[in-house]
Amino acid sequence: MGDINLVVVGSESVGKSALTVRFLTRRYIGEYQSDTDIVYRHQTMIDGEQTNIEILDVSTGKGGDSLLTDKQIRWADGFVIVYSICDRGSFNRLRDLIRDIRDIRASENNHHHGHRDQYNHYSMVIIGNKSDLEHRRTVSTEEGKALAATLECPFAEVSAADSYHDVAKPVQGLLRTVHDTKVML
Ligand code: GDP
Ligand code: MG
Repeated sequence: MGDINLVVVGSESVGKSALTVRFLTRRYIGEYQSDTDIVYRHQTMIDGEQTNIEILDVSTGKGGDSLLTDKQIRWADGFVIVYSICDRGSFNRLRDLIRDIRDIRASENNHHHGHRDQYNHYSMVIIGNKSDLEHRRTVSTEEGKALAATLECPFAEVSAADSYHDVAKPVQGLLRTVHDTKVML
């Protein structure tokens, strides 16, 4: 059973760092350094097995997406794809982001034909963050659900500011999915 690598990705200021730190420490600080990529190492029990997790909290350029390199996309077993429910642009940009991930993973598939599943399996979860800011909402819950449905992946609205459990549930779900897939391969 190998380690599990997760990438947290999405537009600037959607709360990628807040979500990552909340998941790892159960705390919310409020201000986060976001100008460099940070890899956190973490251990957790999955199915009674001690599992090493690495979580890449991707930096964001000014006004844009986090820029994932091909290498980072290949490194990942799972993607935590984040937008903010009060930032429509961050939601609209997810389609391109996810297409990029799929394109890279599909091209990788060609390199490793014969071992395709083993090399190419990955899972995603879509997270709409900042659910505490209901009064500033510009993306409806239905839209988030609909996007996740077209991608056939889980979806959750969460508040990194308000709740550890909000955040932990979908991230743990993703870890479990990745773990179960690796066990099957
Ligand atoms: P990143 O650029 O995606 O890593 O975003 P950050 O994690 O640095 O968060 C950007 C800003 O949004 C910071 O001021 C955070 O305090 C704030 N923020 C993050 N998550 C939440 C949340 O769930 N609710 C609210 N109200 N603010 C949040
Ligand atoms: Mg950040």
